[in-house]
This record gives sequence, structure tokens and C-alpha cells, in this order.
Amino acid sequence: STRIETLEFQAEARQLLQLMVHSIYSDKDIFLRELISNASDALDKLRLASLVDKDLQVDTSDLHIAIEVDREKRTLTVRDNGIGMSRDEVVQLIGTIAKSGTAEVLRKAKESADAAASRELIGQFGVGFYSTFMVADTVTLLTRRAGASGGTRWESSGEGTYVIEDVDDAPQGTAVTLQLKPEDAEDHLFDYTAERKIREIVKKYSDFIAWPIRMATESTDTGGADTGDEATTQIETLNSMKALWARPRDEVDQAEYHELYRHLSHDWTDPLEVVHMKGEGLFEYEALLFIPAHAPLDLFAQDGRRGVQLYVKRVFIMDDCQALMPNYLRFVKGVVDAHDLSLNISREILQQDRQIQLVRRRLVKKVLSTVRSLQTDDAERYRTFWKEFGPVVKEGLLDDGDNQEAILEVVSVASTRDPEQTTTLREYVERMKDGQDDIYYMTGESRLMVEKSPHMEAFQARGYEVLILTDPVDEVWVERVAQFDGKPLRSIAKGQVDLDTADEKESAEPEREQQKKDYAELLSWLARTLQDQVKEVRLSSRLTTSPACLVGDTFDITPTLEKMYRAMGQ
Ligand code: ADP
Ligand code: MG
Repeated sequence: STRIETLEFQAEARQLLQLMVHSIYSDKDIFLRELISNASDALDKLRLASLVDKDLQVDTSDLHIAIEVDREKRTLTVRDNGIGMSRDEVVQLIGTIAKSGTAEVLRKAKESADAAASRELIGQFGVGFYSTFMVADTVTLLTRRAGASGGTRWESSGEGTYVIEDVDDAPQGTAVTLQLKPEDAEDHLFDYTAERKIREIVKKYSDFIAWPIRMATESTDTGGADTGDEATTQIETLNSMKALWARPRDEVDQAEYHELYRHLSHDWTDPLEVVHMKGEGLFEYEALLFIPAHAPLDLFAQDGRRGVQLYVKRVFIMDDCQALMPNYLRFVKGVVDAHDLSLNISREILQQDRQIQLVRRRLVKKVLSTVRSLQTDDAERYRTFWKEFGPVVKEGLLDDGDNQEAILEVVSVASTRDPEQTTTLREYVERMKDGQDDIYYMTGESRLMVEKSPHMEAFQARGYEVLILTDPVDEVWVERVAQFDGKPLRSIAKGQVDLDTADEKESAEPEREQQKKDYAELLSWLARTLQDQVKEVRLSSRLTTSPACLVGDTFDITPTLEKMYRAMGQ
């Protein structure tokens, strides 16, 4: 007998199907991603099974995925020659949702008035196979388990029940056939029988699937002059299969890395640096990151396109995965392929995922250490990096306390020592004079303004090196960063800077007392005259040639910041 049965979906499965049939997603294209992902998993499983079980009689010589289209009948089939399923497995795997917490999620989704919120919830545990019902009226699955003699046919319209029967002539593996909804036929956006459309989806979501995804495609042969244009059909592999990140580093050559970089970034300049890493243990992942050689035009734009894509086991999940890369490293391009995540994980959930946070910490450390080694091993390329991305990296000093040290190590700034050269903080510290405890700096709009500032005089006179900080972001980070290598950062334009040693002070003391008396009248006259403009008028020892200068309190905002705030209307 063929044992035809009509069975009910499990309650949770029924609810999820309801949501799919009434399409909760606007991005219906993902159904193909889901089918390809399942097929790829099935091929992975078969390969593994054939390796583990020597008695398994299967042909693994041509494992692949095939997409077949019938434009007249409006059907789309995704076929694999992978592990397949037994009848019981079909009932178990396709008829029910085994994931724990499903009922809870579905209940919340149903109660939620907000469509976006319920999408979020559903996305958390993955729509998987059921997403086919967004685009199909009927779904048919034909499968035969590797090593078994008979197969199984399953069919449903997603409305509560499915029909299941035994079949004799199923090829090994699984074929899922969708009877596409007639209403989508008119809309080219949802024309899933069009070669162009399928190509586009495969390229976007499944390009790096490690198995070939084949389809019969047409090409117009314009070769013969008298035969005219002739359409010929050939079997074409749609995906590049180049999951470079999953290959051992020493088997990938530079040109391949660069090609992937071009694909990801649309930048035709080779990247400055390639970082290829692999995480093992509890949470497995591969990461392939690129540091570009130049800043994109939209680096400072609110909605600028940024960098790291998330894959789950070779399946593209999302662009610009902010959970994986902090904003101050937004110029980093690349791919992170995590092994144990749901395909439908949302951005919000990712942000809170502990394992993703762990990966992010490792990526950040790796990027910063890569910049650090550039700095020590390849000064030229480091300078390029810093010129392009320095101002962005410094933003990290504001919001990444954990990596403050590492960021400070790679910072380089202008200084009074040499107008032609920048210095790192470490180099500055190594040059600090005996008895100098602080790292001196001054912020301002330009090097010239800072150099000409009266505050500079005493420091110049005594041969102290002062860092010249002219990036707008410098104003802000110097307020946040207390010290480097145990040495406090000190603005020469704020508070009382005491450059004299104790000895010098003692010998200068009588003279200062005399000066105070001599100038007392002038000082009190100045204080009276300027009482609305200044807090206090003091006699200073810091100037050598200028008669007077304005000094901010240690906790006052700087003139540049003041300007910034005013410009923002505060
Ligand atoms: P997920 O892939 O997240 O497990 P799906 O809904 O996509 O969820 O698929 C449910 C299950 O059905 C899969 O875990 C797998 O066991 C089985 N399955 C789906 N498609 C195939 C296939 N092409 N070959 C073998 N098994 C499949
Ligand atoms: Mg799946």
C-alpha cells in the first residue's frame, strides 16, 4: 500500500503557518534562502554521514543543489541530493516545530498589536521551511533518505493539514516544489520563475554556499551571421561558492582576498590589511575582515553604508551587522560567519546576544592589534591608515572604555617637536624630560593658532614638547582620557601650570613678592574694568614675551568646544 494519510500540523506549527500564509514579511525573497540553506545542510549531513558510516551506500561524487523552473505551470523546485528524510522524519521535522519556547513566542506574537514586533519575535526562532507559504499556494516535498529504498511525498497548502504518502520512485535527497501564487505573477518584483530574479536572490543571499547551485539558463548566441540570434540552454552554477573565510589561511592567495573585498565593498583599491580569524570552542565562527586603503565618502554620514556582514553557516543573514563592530571601527569591511545562530536572528536580539558580544570583543581587539603591528612594522601604511581613519578611531576613546589603552597606543598626533612629523603618545612619554610628570597638550583650530598661542611661550622657552590637537574630536576625548601610561594628560591652556622646580621657586620667591606689590594697582584696575568678562586677574610666570593671556579654569570648556556648542544652539 502507499499509506496515504491526511495529518494535522501540530498546534504551534499551525499558528506559524497562519502567519506565513498571510505573509508577515515584506521581504518574501528569503524563502529561497531558506530552501537553499536546508539543501546545503542536507548535503553537509550526507557528506558527514558518508565519512562516518562506511556501510552507507551513497554516491557523493556530485553533491549539488538544483533550481528548476516551469514558467507555464508557475512552479519552482529546489532539489538536493543530500541526506533526505524518512517518512517519520518528515512528520517530525516538517509537521511539527521542535524548538523549545515556540508556543510562548507565538502567543506573544499574536497578542502583540505591533506587526513589526511580532515579526521580530517570529524571526528569533526562524521561519525556515514554512516561509515557502509566503509565495506558494501548495508546497510538495519529495524525499528519500540516503540508504533507504522507498521515498515519501508530502503536500500541503499550509491550512492546517498535510497529506503524506509512500512513493517508490523518489530520487535520493529532497525536492521541494512550490506552486507559486497566481497573484504574484503580475508583479516582476515577485516573479520567482524569472531567471534574472533567481540569479539575483542567489547572488545576494547564497553566493558563498559551499555547494554548487545549478540552474538551466539561456544565453543568446550571436555568433553566426546567417543563423541569426539563437537561444541556447546550458546548466550554469549561479553561486561563486567562495567561502574564503572558511578555508585555511595558507590556502587562500592575496588575489582571492582582494576579489572578495571588491565584491563586499565595491571599492577598486586593494585593502590596506586583511584579517582572517577563526574562533573555536563553545561558539564557532570565522571572520574575514578588511581595512580599506581609503575612507569612503560617507564615512561621516548618518546613513552611510558600513561594513561587516553576518553569515550563518555560509548563508547570508545581514549587511552592516552593528552588533559585531563598534561605530568607531565602522570602516572595517568583511564577513563574520557564525555557526550557531538562527537564520532569522534580528538586529535587536543580536545586540544582546552574549556570544555575539564575545565575538565583537575579539574582533575589536584584533583590528586594534593589527593597526598596532602596522605601526611598528610598516610606518608608511600606518600613516595612510591614520590619515584616513584616525579621526574615526579617536571616537572610540569616548565610548569604548575597555579598549582605551589599546586605542591610545595607536593614536598619533602633531607635536611641537617636529612640524613634519607626528608622534605616538608612547614616543612622547619616552622623550619626556626629567621631572616632567604630565603629558602636555593644547587643542585648537590649527597648528598655527596653537603654536602662536601665548600659552605656549613658557613651554617653548623651557624646551617642553607639547602635543598639538586640532581635530574637533580631540577636544572631546582629552576630557575623557585621564592618563596614558600613568602620566596625566594636561592642557597647557587650563588652570595653573607650574613649570618651576622647587629650587627655582625658592630663589624666585622674593622677586615675585616684589612684582606682586609693583603690579597690585594694575591688577586690581584690570579686574575692575574686566569684571564682566573674566573671573580673576593674576600675575603670571608662564609668559615670556606676550604681556597677557586668557586662561580657562581646569574644568571650563575650551574655546573650540564653546564654539561647537554655540553652533549647535546650546
Ligand atoms: P531549520 O533548518 O532551522 O531546522 P526548517 O524549517 O528550515 O528549520 O527545516 C526543518 C527541518 O526539516 C530541518 O532541520 C531538516 O531536518 C528538515 N529538512 C528541511 N529541508 C530538508 C532537506 N532539503 N533535506 C533534508 N532535511 C530537510
Ligand atoms: Mg532551515
